[in-house]
Amino acid sequence: MLQEVTLAVELQAIDRKIANLEKEIAALPVHIAAIEKKLGSHKLRLEIDRTALAANLRDRKKMEGDIQVHDQKISKLKGQMLDAKNNEQYRAFQNEISWCETEVRKAEDKIIELMEQAEPLDKNVKTAEAALKVEQAEVESEKRRAQDRSAEDQKFLADANAIRQGIVSKLDPKLYLKYQQIKKKTKGTVVADATDGRCEGCQISLRPQLFQDLKVGDRVMFCELCGRILMYNPAVLIER
Ligand SMILES: [Zn+2]
Repeated sequence: MLQEVTLAVELQAIDRKIANLEKEIAALPVHIAAIEKKLGSHKLRLEIDRTALAANLRDRKKMEGDIQVHDQKISKLKGQMLDAKNNEQYRAFQNEISWCETEVRKAEDKIIELMEQAEPLDKNVKTAEAALKVEQAEVESEKRRAQDRSAEDQKFLADANAIRQGIVSKLDPKLYLKYQQIKKKTKGTVVADATDGRCEGCQISLRPQLFQDLKVGDRVMFCELCGRILMYNPAVLIER
């Protein structure tokens, strides 16, 4: 094969490698952002349950305080009741005590209700805390893996770019310019195999004369339809 075409094939191979590396390097931060977002939403859900649990506890404490106040009032009223001067006064104390006792019962019922509500919340929080710990560790190791991968890719990319420079320096500048133009236009395949008489890039059959000239191989040939650099390499045909 013509030296210039061989160089173009090498350049195409390294360009594909560079494109893949660049794609991977760009995808890694997106991947990290996605897993961090998921972690963030799990943290938020846990925070909501924690807040509800704290509010529940606060309400229970308040009820317990109310009970204490009513109990103190009851014992005070019972003391006063002993000094009641008549039946009417006695009954008035009794009514007040009975009202306080009702309030205590109501508060006790409310506490039981709150405790029942707290149970699933508490379970949720504990489960979420454990799950979050695992997830956090996974995210951290995934991030480390991605960072390592990214650093490795950057190194490969630098190496690939150096190799590319080497190839470009050997390539005829006019052909390189043409190569870049075709690359931009075709978004990938710049050098098309035409060993079987058809351009691999656009599938068109070459004119017999063009194909003949390509076989002779004394200059770089281009597809008349798509403009790609044509390659004649019987070894490829045998491999197929
Ligand atoms: Zn073509």
